[in-house]
Amino acid sequence: GAAPPSEPAAATAALPYQDPSLPVPQRVDDLLARMTLDDKLGQMTQIEKEALVPQSDLATYRIGSVLSGGDSTVSPNNAQTWADTYDSLQRTALTTPLGIPVIYGIDAVHGHNAVRGATLFPHNIGLGATRDPDLVERVGRAVAEEVAGTGIDWSFAPCLCVVRNDRWGRTYESFGEKPELPTAMTSFITGMQGPTLGADPASVLTTAKHYLGDGGTTGGVDQGDTQLSEAELRAVHLPPFAEAVRRGVGSVMLSYSSWNGVRSHAHRYLVTDVLKGELGFTGFVVSDWAAVDQLDGQSGFTGAEIATAVNAGVDMVMVPHDYTRFLSLLRGEVNAGRVPMARVDDANRRILTKKFELGLFERPLTDRSYTSTVGSAAHRSLARQAVRESQVLLKNDGGLLPLPKSAKVFVAGKNADDIGNQSGGWTVGWQGRSGPVTEGTTILQGIRAAVTDPSRVTYDRYGNGIDGSYTAAVAVVGETPYAEGRGDRPGAMGLDQEDMATLARLKASGVPVAVVLVSGRPLDIAAQLPDWRALLAAWLPGTEGAGVADVLFGDHAPTGKLPVSWMRSASQQPVNDGDGKSPLFPYGHGLTYDGTDPGPGPDPDPVGGCTADFRLVNSWPGGHQAEITVKNTGTGPTSGWTVDWALDGASVTSLWNGTLTVADGRATVRNTSSNGALSPGATTSFGYTANGSAGSPVPRCVTG
Ligand code: BGC
Repeated sequence: GAAPPSEPAAATAALPYQDPSLPVPQRVDDLLARMTLDDKLGQMTQIEKEALVPQSDLATYRIGSVLSGGDSTVSPNNAQTWADTYDSLQRTALTTPLGIPVIYGIDAVHGHNAVRGATLFPHNIGLGATRDPDLVERVGRAVAEEVAGTGIDWSFAPCLCVVRNDRWGRTYESFGEKPELPTAMTSFITGMQGPTLGADPASVLTTAKHYLGDGGTTGGVDQGDTQLSEAELRAVHLPPFAEAVRRGVGSVMLSYSSWNGVRSHAHRYLVTDVLKGELGFTGFVVSDWAAVDQLDGQSGFTGAEIATAVNAGVDMVMVPHDYTRFLSLLRGEVNAGRVPMARVDDANRRILTKKFELGLFERPLTDRSYTSTVGSAAHRSLARQAVRESQVLLKNDGGLLPLPKSAKVFVAGKNADDIGNQSGGWTVGWQGRSGPVTEGTTILQGIRAAVTDPSRVTYDRYGNGIDGSYTAAVAVVGETPYAEGRGDRPGAMGLDQEDMATLARLKASGVPVAVVLVSGRPLDIAAQLPDWRALLAAWLPGTEGAGVADVLFGDHAPTGKLPVSWMRSASQQPVNDGDGKSPLFPYGHGLTYDGTDPGPGPDPDPVGGCTADFRLVNSWPGGHQAEITVKNTGTGPTSGWTVDWALDGASVTSLWNGTLTVADGRATVRNTSSNGALSPGATTSFGYTANGSAGSPVPRCVTG
């Protein structure tokens, strides 16, 4: 919600918390001091819009947040109705004595995907293939404008999952299998929030999710158990979150999954000690949908589950339905002292800080000037660019691609002319579905627009009617939409029967076949590959199918690189870069049109770095003792740090933690032991005793 105030707020502000000229912490303190326990518990409560009956409950129960889950909608489903719905809810929230605005969250995970007519971008796996964090930042900005145009303040994106097993049904929500890619793509956060939260009216709060290890479960089972040592968990799954925190991400959503048998929502060490402590996260932690009431393995809240989650560090509970029961149980836990008041205040402080920073108190209603950006030509052209850059050319024998624009082309396959299929899950509905679910350009429409004479393009979904007169057949096959719960593929990961039959018809014609694979992940296609002259992985491109035609007809030479290793067979899963297995196509593979593989290109490396602080612990005539604290300021884990500092004539007589060399009046400590390994944001210290005085040493720390 972000409309310019009708008059300067300062002129009407009666109380300090209403005064936008005061610093946010002061406004939070003032507001907190005026809140009742009910006000505070309400702030910690997030409910589904569809569960809010009657709407006045929003004020009655002092609810702090509303969400639209994947299936909640408005009617008619368009940007104006969403904005009207938002404003109506917000007006109700503002009727409480303190007038605390509600914060409204939605899953805008590949564009503002709940809204019919919004621009839909490639799902994250396609964005990961672009290896273009600047592009992804611009995508984030465009999504923010569309979300802001419907009043909504907050998106449950980006998913920073590091997918380690492509059987997982949320593989397409991942930017890639190595931490470097999701880490680099946290640029999405900066795009969506802006450099500072609330600095402009289209700034939308983001969510780093799902903390921690959602993509690492055994067998790729959704909501499963991630069985890893702490060192591996930190090395593989933590870096993107550290970078998100560094970029000021406003919220973090916990994962349904467990780490070595303990659910994230109950994991005080991971949530409070590591995320809030070590990484220094100052935003708020939101639970996943109904995740707290499932902590005991059954649905339905108990007080014990609520206390466990809140004490682990959950600040806001995505209830999402039974809010009266939730609130009374939470109140009971607080009254009994099992949830300390200090924890309630801390949660409120975190949530209210973001509401103030977003400008919700000053601009609670929709800024309608952004409403027309929903599905705008500018955003669609950005999405088309993202589609172009996301495609990965895996095979191109004899240079079949690009096709000449004058070619006689036969197009087939269930994903050729289906905007629902090319958009995947989380598209106008949680699971997505086939058919004309929203507006945009199908791949077939893109092909017809790209060629010189559209009458030379023939389409038959099943490949019926093809004969030998065609230059090429383009088969657009792959997966149909799914999301959580329905997406895991425990068995075979191949093409379905319809695709196999279509491909057989094309093959029988003898016409060279270019396959465009529309799928959320690699499929098991090794056995069919010899039949295909070309293979283009298009992932789930979203609403701008023209971007696929741009690559097929050479308006854009492919530049995408595999963000995941492509399995040789389903039984090879999990297969990841560096694991010694031999995939069909390695991580980073991607051809272009000069016939060569330009190589994987540079991995977007995590930003390395460390700092060292010097502290004099003790000094005496002729000697001193000091402690140096090393901090990993980078976005990747490091164990190879070195600190050196001037000795100023002193000589070190003893040292703990590390290996010391002294040369040219400087001491150098090199960390050799693995227990000196530092995850992003983490610190370690070492100390020494020396003869001579300390002077004023400025230690220098480097990694590598
Ligand atoms: C998903 C989250 C999503 C939430 C709200 C959950 O089922 O795991 O990713 O943000 O629903 O829709």
